[in-house]
Amino acid sequence: MTEIPIKILKERLVEISHLTSILNLLEWDQEVNMPRKAGDARAEAFAHLAGIIHSKILALNEGGHLVQLKKLFDSGKISGGNGVIVNETWRTYDREKKLPASFVQELATTISKAQGVWAEARTKNDFAIFLPHLEKIVKLKKQEAELVGYTASPYDALLDAYEPGIDTATFSAILLDLKEFLVPFLKRIKESTVKIKPERVKGRFKLHQQIIFNELVLNQIGFDLEAGRLDASVHPFSSGFHPYDVRLTTRYKENDVLYSLGSTIHEAGHGLYEQGLPVEHFGTPLAETVSLGIHESQSRLWENQIGKSRPFWKFFYPKLQQAFSKPFQNILPAEFYQIINRVQPSLIRTEADEVTYNLHIILRFEIEKDLIEGKIKAKDLPALWRAKMKEYLDIEVPSDTLGVLQDVHWSAGLFGYFPTYSFGNLYAAQFYAKMEKDIPNLDRKIAIGDFTVVIEWLRRHIHLTGKTDTASDLVKKVTGEALDPKYFNQYLEEKYSEIYNL
Ligand code: MG
Repeated sequence: MTEIPIKILKERLVEISHLTSILNLLEWDQEVNMPRKAGDARAEAFAHLAGIIHSKILALNEGGHLVQLKKLFDSGKISGGNGVIVNETWRTYDREKKLPASFVQELATTISKAQGVWAEARTKNDFAIFLPHLEKIVKLKKQEAELVGYTASPYDALLDAYEPGIDTATFSAILLDLKEFLVPFLKRIKESTVKIKPERVKGRFKLHQQIIFNELVLNQIGFDLEAGRLDASVHPFSSGFHPYDVRLTTRYKENDVLYSLGSTIHEAGHGLYEQGLPVEHFGTPLAETVSLGIHESQSRLWENQIGKSRPFWKFFYPKLQQAFSKPFQNILPAEFYQIINRVQPSLIRTEADEVTYNLHIILRFEIEKDLIEGKIKAKDLPALWRAKMKEYLDIEVPSDTLGVLQDVHWSAGLFGYFPTYSFGNLYAAQFYAKMEKDIPNLDRKIAIGDFTVVIEWLRRHIHLTGKTDTASDLVKKVTGEALDPKYFNQYLEEKYSEIYNL
C-alpha cells in the first residue's frame, strides 16, 4: 500500500537533487571561473533557482502526500531504507515550509552579492565595504532563526541546519572541555626546547608542477579524477554534485608546495566521502552525507591522522624529493615530519596546526553566537577579533584581511557552521582510533601507498550508509561508544609529546 507513494516521493526527490546539483555547479563556477562583472547576473539566476527548489520541496507534500507517509513512518508501517527517506525528507520539508519563498530568495540574492564584495574587501583589506552586506546577512539569519523556531537560543536554530541534534549549550560544554586540555598543553609545547625551522621547506615551486604533485597524491589515495576535478579558488572547498562528479579546489603559493597540498588532502577527504555515497540511491537521503561534522571528520582524518603521519610520508616523501629536489633533497624525513607538524599559534584558521585549530573555532563560535543573540553588532567585529586573538593565541592581528575577513562563511550566510569543524576533529580522532584497532597492519599498508584498506573501512562504516544514522548514532555504531573528546586529546598528547619531547 505504501509502494506507490514512496515511488512518487523518490522521483520528486531525484528531481530536486538534479536542481540542487545545478545550483551547486553555479556556485562552484562562481568561485572558480566566473568573470567579476557577472556577479549581479549570477545572483539573480541563483536566487531564481533557489526559489524553484524551495517550491519543489514544499510540493513534496502536495495532496498531503508527505504528511501521510510520515504518519505511516511514525506508526512503524514504513521502516528500513524507506523509513530513512521519509523521516529525513520530512525534516527538510518541515524546516523549509517555515521559510516563505520571498525570504529564501532575498537571502540567496543577498548572499550571492555579498560573496563578491567579501572577496574584494579581503583583497583590499577594507572591512567597511563588506559591513553593510554583513549587517543584512545577520539580520536575515536572525529572522531565519525566528521563523524556524528554537527553545533556548536563536543560534540553536542555525546550528541545527548543519549538526542536527546538537544545541548551543552542549557545544559550549564540549568546547570548555577542549579548552581545559588545549590551553595548558599548548603552554607546555611553547616551553619546549625543541626548535623547528619551517622556512627550510620554502622554495620556488612552479604552479604546473604543484598541480601535477597534488594530482599524484589524489590519485594514489583513491580520489577518482575521472569522477572529479581539482581547481583553484580563493577559499578551498569541495562540492559533490553526484558520486561521479565531485569538485575539489585548493589554493597555491609559489613559495610553498605544502600549502596547496594540505588543502588538497583535506578537500579530498570530503571528496572521497561524496564519491563513496551509494550511487544507486542518488537523490534520496540514503545517498546523502550525515552532517557537516561527520563530513569534516572525513577531511580531517585524511589531512591530519593520515596526511601528517610518518607512514604516509614514508611513501610520499621520496616522491616529493624527486619532484622538488630543491629544497627537499637537503631535508631528512625526520626533520620534514617535525616541520609539517609544527605547532605555532597563527593568524589563519585553515593553516592552523592541530593543537591551536580549535581555539580559532572557539573565537568564531563566540562571535557569531553573540551576533545572532544580539549581544554585539557587526561593526564591532574587527576589534573583537583582535582582542580574542590576543587572548586565546597571544597574537596581534595586523590587518582585517588576515583577521575577520579571512573566512568565506559569514559572507555566505553560514552561521552555525564553524562548530562543525571542531566536531569533525573529535569524530576523526575517535574513528581513527577504531580504524587502527580494526586494521592491525594499517601503518604498514599506508607506508607502501596502499590506501584501499582505509577507503574500504570508511566506505563500509560511514560512506555507504548515507543518512541512515544521525551523527551521534553513527559514532556509537562505528566505535561502540558515544562521542568522547578523550580520543582527540590522547591523539594530540601522544603525537606532540614525542615531537616536542614533553
Ligand atoms: Mg572542510
